Amino acid sequence: MSSTRRQFFLTASGGGIGALASLTPVASQAAMDVKGSKEIIVPEKRLPILAEADVVVCGGGTAGIAAACSAARHGAKVILLERWPSLGGMATNALVNIWHTGDRRKQVIFGLLQEAAERGGRFVRRMSDFPKRPEMYEFDPVGMRVVFDQMLKESGVRVLCNLTAVESVVTGDRMHAVLVDTKTGRKAVKGRIFIDATGDGDVAANAGIPFDFGRASDGAVQGMTMMFQVRGLEPDQVRAHPEEAERVLALMKKLREDGKYPQFMDLAARSYLRSPRSPIVAYNMCPVAGNPLEEEELSRLSAQGREQVYQYVNLWRKEMPGFKNAEVCQMGFGLGIRESRRIRGIKTLDGPMVVGAIKQPDALGHGFWMIDIHDPKGSGHTSWADQRADMMPPAGESYHIPLGMCLNKQINNLAVVGRCSSSTHEACASVRIQSHCMVMGQGVGTCAALAIDGGKHMAGVDIRNLQSILRKDGAYIKSVPAGT
Ligand SMILES: Cc1cc2nc3c(=O)[nH]c(=O)nc-3n(C[C@H](O)[C@H](O)[C@H](O)COP(=O)(O)OP(=O)(O)OC[C@H]3O[C@@H](n4cnc5c(N)ncnc54)[C@H](O)[C@@H]3O)c2cc1C
Repeated sequence: MSSTRRQFFLTASGGGIGALASLTPVASQAAMDVKGSKEIIVPEKRLPILAEADVVVCGGGTAGIAAACSAARHGAKVILLERWPSLGGMATNALVNIWHTGDRRKQVIFGLLQEAAERGGRFVRRMSDFPKRPEMYEFDPVGMRVVFDQMLKESGVRVLCNLTAVESVVTGDRMHAVLVDTKTGRKAVKGRIFIDATGDGDVAANAGIPFDFGRASDGAVQGMTMMFQVRGLEPDQVRAHPEEAERVLALMKKLREDGKYPQFMDLAARSYLRSPRSPIVAYNMCPVAGNPLEEEELSRLSAQGREQVYQYVNLWRKEMPGFKNAEVCQMGFGLGIRESRRIRGIKTLDGPMVVGAIKQPDALGHGFWMIDIHDPKGSGHTSWADQRADMMPPAGESYHIPLGMCLNKQINNLAVVGRCSSSTHEACASVRIQSHCMVMGQGVGTCAALAIDGGKHMAGVDIRNLQSILRKDGAYIKSVPAGT
């Protein structure tokens, strides 16, 4: 709920960010300790301008990729900034490799997600149980990195990886630049519109936009997961021994109870032990809990997750038929993070809107996923397992993802897309899935290009025109009520 707004002022010489100077009374030649405090004061610096664009997208996960591609395809000069060496965010680098596109009766998400799935070719597999379940595609996270690179390149997006957005330069209701830390020092990236797709809302929080964090009762966010892949399975052997799967699962539970085995997601473990689909399987069952914004805690939890993975696999190799040659072949580059800051927007998506399949005049597309809360205490339990009707829209129905949850009241040239957009803890547990993040990215990226083109704020873009352009670009937007 706190904010870390830091105001920067332009000098009288009016030169924009290149003229950042003499801004505070604390200029000094070197970093100084402040007596009796745990802070240091750093000297002011003139920062080089690294790049400049119409639209600066910060964060190259699924939301950021969709935002960057769509803004560029509609004529904006676009830069995408990413702290990691490759794009895709949770989808590729945390190995979260399932796309959901259906409301359990029909497909309701198309647009850029459908394009990525089609371009994915052999990296993407359509699941056989669609449309009965919302899951539709499983993909190879390594191959999808290349597909995302190609989509951005062909759209004309300038991609800068290996740098982190650390400060937002704001005066009044406008953002002027984002400051990035690179291997060669801090630099400025100037833009006319900024889109925060960092997953954690770093840019918006640094710009002083209020945010919420965690559930109302204790401020804890959803549990995180270390995703991993195992190769060398013999699926026929495994499937031939369901009774052994039950025995091994019971053993895992007993060891866990005795404190000799880590937490795991029971439901997922059973399914992985009973019915692997192929010799290489991706596992979503290794929970940890904590604060994803606290670097030391995140380091400790990542190490804990990596250790847990080997504890599972070592036991299976010993106990479970078909697992004797099992080897971990991949782990997430980082922990899979489901929730951190949720930046407060003009509108906030909440649980009743999700479950009630509520439609919105400023719809960018549809959402359907259930309120799927992974235990913030790290037991591995997910409310998905309960399959309660009051936690999901009815089969065949979907809610609208509104533009208003991506815009804010304070800074009119800054939008937020993806899991850090404006929602309650409960609604975030639905809207955070990648297909929904791409709906937001495509909608806001297109809106940003229209705003640049028409010399307007994003909130001033004609919503009907935006929706009609999105439809032409393949997006599914139905049942839009009148109003704004
Ligand atoms: C274990 C797990 C399982 C899940 N299962 C599914 C599933 O089955 N299906 C599904 O659709 N969704 C699933 N989800 C949810 C989904 O993967 C994420 O919510 C979604 O990928 C978020 O996308 P995003 O683009 O908003 O953020 P992210 O994917 O987190 O992307 C943010 C990007 O911004 C970069 N970044 C962050 N900070 C900065 C900064 N300061 N400067 C520059 N770059 C920065 C990051 O490196 C990253 O690349 C799961 C999530 C987890 C963790």
